Amino acid sequence: GSTIGILGGGQLGRMLAVAASRLGLKCHVYDPGSDVPAAEVAAHATTAAWDDEAALRAFAGSVDVVTYEFENVPTASLDLIESIVPIRPNRRALAVSQDRIDEKDFLRSLGLATAPYAAVDDAGSLDAALAEIGAPAILKTRRFGYDGKGQARIMSADAAAAALAEMNGAPSILEGFVEFSHEVSVIGARGLDGAVACFDPGENRHEDGILRETTVPARLTASQRTDAVLLAAKILTELDYVGVMGVELFVTPQGLVINEIAPRVHNSGHWTQDGCLIDQFEQHIRAVAGWPLGDGARHSDVVMENLIGDDVDRIPQIAATQSAIHLYGKAEARPGRKMGHVNRITGPVR
Ligand code: ATP
Ligand code: MG
Ligand code: MG
Repeated sequence: GSTIGILGGGQLGRMLAVAASRLGLKCHVYDPGSDVPAAEVAAHATTAAWDDEAALRAFAGSVDVVTYEFENVPTASLDLIESIVPIRPNRRALAVSQDRIDEKDFLRSLGLATAPYAAVDDAGSLDAALAEIGAPAILKTRRFGYDGKGQARIMSADAAAAALAEMNGAPSILEGFVEFSHEVSVIGARGLDGAVACFDPGENRHEDGILRETTVPARLTASQRTDAVLLAAKILTELDYVGVMGVELFVTPQGLVINEIAPRVHNSGHWTQDGCLIDQFEQHIRAVAGWPLGDGARHSDVVMENLIGDDVDRIPQIAATQSAIHLYGKAEARPGRKMGHVNRITGPVR
């Protein structure tokens, strides 16, 4: 196809549209919001609600394939779009990653390690889950959480009621606390022909539940690195996936434990823009457009730093250093809002 529809017009959609444009492809972005960073770089943009049937039909009719930068598009909207044009990655990948219980059930079915978990709907099921899993634990909403929102830590059983109140009645999951030494992620891709290519794992540091920094290479042994790539490939192949996926991992003495998967380009893969010949955005566009994938090879060591809220005020100083600057063109720098990122090359690959 020559026009790609993108559901969601945030920074990920924007960087996808830039990558598509470099490949001579046009993008049509669909987003219900008012501040849509992708709109100004895409050839077409529709600002309409997720349940606007006429707008969805017109959007789907104008493109050759639809992808997404946002995994919480309502099911009914996806059904309508899919009756007109293919969606890549496919609906199963979306369904599995939208719900933390379904996600962990799926990962366990592949024999992969996750935190111990149990569904929580009320005080009774939380008590039962805590009795089984023990504290410390984390209570999370099953759906819609990002940047650590919709989560409460339970350090001991007497904190259970307060944590449950924070879920506001939303269906939830209790996860045992994983004692990890550090966090890494693999950005993997699978093409329409079934070929898989993974980028080198990056090491992620979070602050206040938000990704702060990704460093490549990650601190991993050769066998951990192989494990990380193999498990990502297994997930991609099992889902008959087409596109880029982010797989977040905890590194523990017992091996790699999967935290969550994201069926899209991922913040922890932004380093690829300046560390690889073909970055995650081009890779995703290549996959959904049916092109051959890049091999994922990395030419440099990189540190990616997110610019969150007021961090953008440091741009003049950062611009005076040798850093690749990626700004999203967002109008307002609210606290916790991702405004951009910078990539610093720290050396050639050794
Ligand atoms: P994202 O923005 O990555 O989608 P999210 O809101 O989905 O974030 P998670 O990735 O589940 O949240 O959790 C955020 C962070 O909290 C993790 O990166 C990790 O540092 C910590 N965390 C989450 N679950 C666990 C766990 N079971 N054990 C230990 N730490 C955890
Ligand atoms: Mg998440
Ligand atoms: Mg996460």
